[in-house]
Amino acid sequence: MIDLKNLTIRKAHEAMIRGDFSALDLVSAYIDQIEKRNGTVNAFLEVYADAKEQAQKADESFKQGTATLLTGIPIALKDNILFAGHKASASSKMLENFVAPYDATAVRKLKEMGTVFIGRTNMDEFAMGGSTENSAYGVTRNPWDESRVPGGSSGGSAAAIAMDGALVALGSDTGGSVRQPASLCGCVGLKPTYGSISRHGLMAMGSSFDQIGPITKTVDDTEILFEALKGADSLDSTSSYEDKREVLPKTMRIGISKNILDSDGLHPEVKNNFKKSLEKLTEMGYEIVDIELPNMSQALAVYYIIVPAEVSSNLARFDGVKYGLHVEGKDLLDDYVLTRREGFGKEVRRRIMLGTYVLSSGYYDAYYGKANALRSLIRKDFENALETVDVILTPTTPTPAFPIGEKSKDPLQMYLEDIFTVPASITGNPAISIPSGFTNDEKKLPLGIQFLARPYREDILFKVSKDFLGEI
Ligand code: GLN
Repeated sequence: MIDLKNLTIRKAHEAMIRGDFSALDLVSAYIDQIEKRNGTVNAFLEVYADAKEQAQKADESFKQGTATLLTGIPIALKDNILFAGHKASASSKMLENFVAPYDATAVRKLKEMGTVFIGRTNMDEFAMGGSTENSAYGVTRNPWDESRVPGGSSGGSAAAIAMDGALVALGSDTGGSVRQPASLCGCVGLKPTYGSISRHGLMAMGSSFDQIGPITKTVDDTEILFEALKGADSLDSTSSYEDKREVLPKTMRIGISKNILDSDGLHPEVKNNFKKSLEKLTEMGYEIVDIELPNMSQALAVYYIIVPAEVSSNLARFDGVKYGLHVEGKDLLDDYVLTRREGFGKEVRRRIMLGTYVLSSGYYDAYYGKANALRSLIRKDFENALETVDVILTPTTPTPAFPIGEKSKDPLQMYLEDIFTVPASITGNPAISIPSGFTNDEKKLPLGIQFLARPYREDILFKVSKDFLGEI
């Protein structure tokens, strides 16, 4: 029996080098576990038919001595990341039978290192949502408490890790979709600096926000994946990477915005846990500094204007002509209307309507233009704050995992879940969510905290997070 609960990339790699188990044994152990739990959790939409074959190839590399650290490591892919020859549906009826014609750059890089793609994971349709209740293929349940949501939109990837259905996973984060489900499922989740992981082959939601990010059990595993995936890519003109690493100061300064603890809607368990985390960091020798983020209160509004605008433009390609669902109408216009009505779920249609509204002449200046101006101000706030501190700390989410159905009827309640995660997406800064304990009640639900750093300073996030978790 392989101890999947405590397995990390390095442990698995060493075990495969020693021959304790093969890549085929490893992927088979995960597939067994998926068979046990996926029936209720619904983290995976599909286990790839060639997963074992990929593992056999990885075993060949071990025999030939060409294995890398990622060879044979089973990874789960969010359903909006293209893996050539395999389905990718963005959990939408629109792309139910869509087969990826090419690899995302992230997938290509992992393939070259011998990673084993085990399956694709459920998500909110086109990554719009915070609970994985907006999938056309059923809700995903939180493995810690199956009556609750795993968070979203990468809820399938986070649940896959929490139920030991894969060693590591990839999600995508536009406003928190890696960090928020990681937090609600007790995992580590990184949204890297905007542009540092190529978006080529990631289905677009809000192109000036979208980033692929790892979801794992340990910070070290996240760091390994980030190192493997980062870098400018000629296929994504917005990608870039600058090595800004430098020796870290002995005493690091952590900024917190005082008003965070007074925010309305902050669950008492989250508040308590956040205070305890601060105490722990102080005891460890970190200096806690109050910072001002004057425009932070506008972040959610800015996000929910600019993202729908980008969504409405990005999703215009799903017209029933080029690819995906086609519903035949009486004329071309009717084809468009029927295809998009049938193919898209409620939340996606809501965002497209909101987006076209804020971009329409007469409203553009009042909404889109203003939101963009505020985006610059928020960016400036964070730049200023990060001149005096090394990282900024917040809770990842205002509440622990909530019951399925509790917020799905009220979009505004759902959007409030993103209050702490959208700022890093608006500004492009890197941010990581790490487990910070559990609720104190009998429910024992996982909680998380989030660190945010200057662009390209993921190294600081990894250092502070490893310290906090006692990872060496
Ligand atoms: N919950 C946010 C939204 O619905 C974030 C989604 C995401 O990061 N993909 O837009």
